[in-house]
Amino acid sequence: MLSADGTAVGFNGVALGRSQVYGAVAEAVCVQSTRHRCPSTWCDCGFYCFHDADQARALACDEQYDRSVLLEVLASGRYVSYELGLRYQRQTVRSVRIGRCRCGRTPAALDDVGGGIVGWRRLEPVCRECAGRRAVLSLETFGALSGVPMSVDEGNGHAAMAPLAPLAGADDESRFPDVQRQESPGADMSPDAEIPLLTAEVTLLQARLDEIQRRLGRLTDRP
Ligand SMILES: [Zn+2]
Ligand SMILES: [Zn+2]
Repeated sequence: MLSADGTAVGFNGVALGRSQVYGAVAEAVCVQSTRHRCPSTWCDCGFYCFHDADQARALACDEQYDRSVLLEVLASGRYVSYELGLRYQRQTVRSVRIGRCRCGRTPAALDDVGGGIVGWRRLEPVCRECAGRRAVLSLETFGALSGVPMSVDEGNGHAAMAPLAPLAGADDESRFPDVQRQESPGADMSPDAEIPLLTAEVTLLQARLDEIQRRLGRLTDRP
């Protein structure tokens, strides 16, 4: 999460924790009652962790959690064990690992995806191609604001998935003579990265052409 004034970042829990945003070092709070200490054996409050990162990745296959990030934490204070890990009082986030962009590509930044809560914008990993020219938060800025390093989680099931090869003819060299290819800013990029770039260039040129045609039309229509 990014604060409304853009000066702080935090994390938002899943399920019951959705109403809370907490920092890299945080104490659990109970949203049900202020009368007991957290975590209480009579309540389900507290931070939760898994002992095993793969168990967290398995949970993220559920659509309720699939846009969440993986936090490596140091748990401390009071705790209660549960089947897969601990429910505990205090945590320090040691690292943040993010999943892929919704399109499946490797993320390059964090995008404001809506669905925030009062005072906080919700961010999600986004790749360079999907981000386009939109303003996004760089992974470095998130790291600087949180004091926690952020990296891409390579250990998830997406590793088995990859984009299909382009359709025959879609990447036809004859349509892009060598001279143009050398001048193009994306000349040494992979076709995957180059297509959105060239598409954006065509859109810009098309808009400019439309504008010129409109002005020409106005001039030539004069009596
Ligand atoms: Zn409680
Ligand atoms: Zn993408």
